[in-house]
Amino acid sequence: MDFQIPDEYLELKKMVRKFVESELFPLEQEIINRESARGTTDMPSISPEVEKHLMQRTEELGLWGLEVPEEFGGQDLGALAKIVVVEQMNRSIVQYTLPPDAPNLNFLKECCNPEQYEKYLVPYATGKKRSALAMTEPNAGSDASAISTRADFKNGKWVINGTKAWISYAPKVDFFILIAINDKAKGKKGGFSAFLVDKGTPGLKIERNVNTIGDMFAYELVLEDMELEPSQVLGEVGYAFIPLQNRFGVRRIELAARCCGYADRLIQLMIDQANIRVTFGKTLAERQAVQWWISDSMMELHAARLMVYHAAWKVDQGHKDMRKEAAMLKVYCTEMLSKIADRAIQVHGGLGLSKEMPIEYIYRLVRIFRIVEGPSEIHRWLLAREILKDGKPYETFK
Ligand SMILES: Cc1cc2nc3c(=O)[nH]c(=O)nc-3n(C[C@H](O)[C@H](O)[C@H](O)COP(=O)(O)OP(=O)(O)OC[C@H]3O[C@@H](n4cnc5c(N)ncnc54)[C@H](O)[C@@H]3O)c2cc1C
Repeated sequence: MDFQIPDEYLELKKMVRKFVESELFPLEQEIINRESARGTTDMPSISPEVEKHLMQRTEELGLWGLEVPEEFGGQDLGALAKIVVVEQMNRSIVQYTLPPDAPNLNFLKECCNPEQYEKYLVPYATGKKRSALAMTEPNAGSDASAISTRADFKNGKWVINGTKAWISYAPKVDFFILIAINDKAKGKKGGFSAFLVDKGTPGLKIERNVNTIGDMFAYELVLEDMELEPSQVLGEVGYAFIPLQNRFGVRRIELAARCCGYADRLIQLMIDQANIRVTFGKTLAERQAVQWWISDSMMELHAARLMVYHAAWKVDQGHKDMRKEAAMLKVYCTEMLSKIADRAIQVHGGLGLSKEMPIEYIYRLVRIFRIVEGPSEIHRWLLAREILKDGKPYETFK
């Protein structure tokens, strides 16, 4: 058994950590100010100039396409390398996704035909195109099988009608992976399809943005008699449910790694504050309540990190069914970060509540994490269902 990560990943970690501290930390106040200035508009929290600069810098540092196979222009380093980088990048509140965003990449890798490889997968894998997933609807979120957007095959074309809700990045992407029902009676087995939809396709309208807690917003899409060619079906007609679930699994592991990055930052801030802040003649570090917040936070982060790295290692070993790990990680890591963010505010008092530190920002952001990519309750339910079906506890080592 080896609990060490390879030396080259430790070097990668060191390099990204330095980049984050020297180049992202100084941008944080601007991120906070832009979020406050946004109101209910969709002004992004990173200005276009800063985003362009970050794109250039991260490309120079060789941080793009870490897990992308070489045949698609990537570095083929695998899930563990990606997790090391994602954790470090998310020690900062500058929310910046290293191209390509891995979950849709996985969907494309699993389902693209050779023609789609060239048009969508390769440009996406090399950061030249962006994409979004359009699955959720006003009446179907956790329960993907309840979506009602229709795909009808008429006169040699697919005609799409429906409404999609909460679609991130919609105006910025080059194409969508859109999920629609082609045969209600067949449901998940034969009736649930994915389509590649280019931006600007007639019949596709970005209706409005909806802002949420935690520096996030998403968009409503209206699809009215949108016509698609048969070549725009992604994968086999009617069989998109399993690739969609596989995509969610990848996102959940990454989200858990993000939580570890934020938690690490918050614990550092707690330690620093506890060592310098004096009340009633003693530092906070000498108060047992504060010591316990710090040690509980440290234990929880350590456990979470081991779970995340174990899951990434399993992916690199070729394990395909990561449903149980993804469910455990999603719940444990998002709830871990919620608790740590709350304690970090408490240690800092008024300062923790202020917009002069990143703590309250993370506190609000993590509230979203407990809902997106499946609420905690769904993951607890799915995990229990799997374990009860197996009739035995999850085996960490087999
Ligand atoms: C900022 C943001 C960005 C998003 N981006 C995207 C995107 O890019 N693409 C996309 O397709 N979607 C996106 N979503 C949608 C997101 O994935 C859904 O909001 C999420 O899956 C939950 O669905 P829902 O909001 O419809 O909640 P519901 O399904 O209505 O669930 C509400 C609550 O009911 C409870 N619940 C539901 N079912 C059960 C059950 N079986 N057992 C116990 N409790 C249950 C849970 O507590 C849950 O929180 C985004 C959402 C947000 C807020």
